[in-house]
Amino acid sequence: MSNNFLNTPIEYLKSVGPQKADLLKKELRIFNYSNLLSYYPFRYVDRTKFYKVNEINADLPFVQLRGKIMHTEMVGVKRTMRFVATFTDGTGKLELVWFQGAKWIAEKIKPHLTNEYVIFGKPSVFGSKFNIAHPEIELATEENTTFAPALQAVYHSTDKLKGRSMDTKGIVRIQKMLSSLIKNNIPETLSKTIIDRYQLMSREDAMKQIHFPQNPELLKKAEFRLKFEELFFIQLKLLKQKGLREKTYRGFIFSKVGDYFNGFYNEYLPFELTNAQKRVIKEIRLDMGSGKQMNRLLQGDVGSGKTLVALMNMLIALDNGFQASLMAPTEILANQHFETISELLIPLDIKVGLLTGSKKTKERRLLHEQLLSGELQILIGTHALFEDTVQFKNLGLVVIDEQHRFGVAQRAKMWSKNTQPPHVLIMSATPIPRTLAMTLYGDLDVSVIDELPPGRKPISTTHRFDNHRDRVFGFMREQIALGRQIYIVYPLIKESEKMDFKDLQDGYESIVRAFPQPKYQVSIVHGQLKADAKEYEMQRFVKHETQIMVATTVIEVGVNVPNASVMVIESAERFGLSQLHQLRGRVGRGADQSYCILMTSHKLGADGKLRMETMCRTNDGFEIADVDLKLRGPGDMAGTVQSGVLDLNIADLAKDAQILHTARNMVIELLSEDADLKNLENAPIAYHFSMMNSNRTNWSRIS
Ligand code: ADP
Ligand code: MG
Repeated sequence: MSNNFLNTPIEYLKSVGPQKADLLKKELRIFNYSNLLSYYPFRYVDRTKFYKVNEINADLPFVQLRGKIMHTEMVGVKRTMRFVATFTDGTGKLELVWFQGAKWIAEKIKPHLTNEYVIFGKPSVFGSKFNIAHPEIELATEENTTFAPALQAVYHSTDKLKGRSMDTKGIVRIQKMLSSLIKNNIPETLSKTIIDRYQLMSREDAMKQIHFPQNPELLKKAEFRLKFEELFFIQLKLLKQKGLREKTYRGFIFSKVGDYFNGFYNEYLPFELTNAQKRVIKEIRLDMGSGKQMNRLLQGDVGSGKTLVALMNMLIALDNGFQASLMAPTEILANQHFETISELLIPLDIKVGLLTGSKKTKERRLLHEQLLSGELQILIGTHALFEDTVQFKNLGLVVIDEQHRFGVAQRAKMWSKNTQPPHVLIMSATPIPRTLAMTLYGDLDVSVIDELPPGRKPISTTHRFDNHRDRVFGFMREQIALGRQIYIVYPLIKESEKMDFKDLQDGYESIVRAFPQPKYQVSIVHGQLKADAKEYEMQRFVKHETQIMVATTVIEVGVNVPNASVMVIESAERFGLSQLHQLRGRVGRGADQSYCILMTSHKLGADGKLRMETMCRTNDGFEIADVDLKLRGPGDMAGTVQSGVLDLNIADLAKDAQILHTARNMVIELLSEDADLKNLENAPIAYHFSMMNSNRTNWSRIS
């Protein structure tokens, strides 16, 4: 099975000289034939259909038209100068507009009574008229009006490449050249069983069809094949990792549930557990008793009570003579976990410690000693827990409360604290969609809390424009008169973002004016405050000495004030969905009806509108996460960091859930039959897999 063809350096391709090759490498990371073949189009255009001007509406995507230019003129001066051509096909008129390259295009396009042009672009409404900005335009010829292929690929390019005539057309040219060389030289990467079972197109055909589809059906099959393959190999990597880990490491066996757990459960539990909490605690307990080393993701909506689940399982570790540790993403959150948990555990006489970056050396040293002697049973902290100097006597369970996905390497570091790795429970701070979880955390088992504690009233969410602030203030006064407290949140202050700080300051001043002392008291908290000042301001709010807390997103995590029942989010359009949801989760914790008010300016893009609508429509974090995934794509979602598994080349986690499930199930079945991929039939899979992993920098593109 030779890969010579696919490994051929790109400069060997006819018409790609050394200079173009250099650019292709630098700009698109295309080094060889395989890379070029895997440089897929990002869309296709149907060039068989010609629209009529009178058929056009603003909802149409790209359209192709054929007609004449009646009139052209240069409009505006200097920076606003643009070239406008009036186009007609007999059914109506349309303006074509060029803002850039106006002079050049003016040379090229002349009004003419007989010459016909073919134009292509996306129509938009301008007043009562339609126009197309920067359309593709060329003289109508026999070729572009009759022989155009059904679907034409469109490729992303870069300015530098375009400068070397490597725009989408240029890329089509070299793809065509390469495509003509394909002949029984693209090896299959999947087994015959798999190909037959899902009736997959062969890899070779898929590589041809994806660039030059003969018809929409074949394109669909090619896409399916390539998406399946991509997801299949990612799942294979994750599940092989999981299998390897299970084979290599044995887990501590937590065989019993003892006095700590039972004592707490029977006598000190502050409330009845929800059924979901009970089920999940049991799942985790069974896993930790199985002899396997647990690696589990705990998912649950904001406020679903993950902390308590973590605590109950830490008690099981203690019951079996082990230590447990809980790691939080921020210092505020670590503090809060420490306070909650210490308080709950007072009657049980369990020693709990807190380790954060701001601990003094002396305190630290003491903690280190107590950890090593085993005197300290539970350690709560931030990243500081990862430091090498932190050594445990016998760490049995690590719980990681994640805001962003930690790298696998970071988690592995936690293991090195023992000769045998502890059980690991990862809690995600906000819900993530299933497809994302399966990819990002695909090497973990999953538990889901799908129920909120009883008595929570759904938070009522509304969207208001800035000019309605007076009415919002009025509502706030009513709520304060009822004895409630209110958060007002502004976008985050970073050192560089002076604007944000100004917004916050201005906002604070206008609030103080609208809510004057002594009747009203206002706290203010932001990232530039010193820790003790921050703490002081927070405490005033916690103790109900202030009714309003003006803050940046530092309150996103860590504040728990059940009496606060109104969350006003300023410039809400500047927040992502999961962040909005997380912020909203700060209210609705008490018995009172809670409210979330999203303030935005009138200038709101389509995305912003959808985000506000989604927040107003639902309180379900999983549903919100799904919309977020559709809007932003996996790479940009909060709570994830760029990671190799999300570098998808063709599959789309927002759209291809079904293919992902199929691929994952197929991998599970495959590994259960042939864990080491030793069967002859699976040789193509094994070979491709080893090739991918031997080139880590670019593995998604290697064939
Ligand atoms: P999250 O899942 O967002 O981390 P927390 O663990 O912080 O949620 O819990 C949110 C709030 O709900 C806390 O104040 C906690 O005490 C409370 N809580 C947790 N479980 C229950 C329950 N079963 N019944 C009532 N309240 C609960
Ligand atoms: Mg939490």
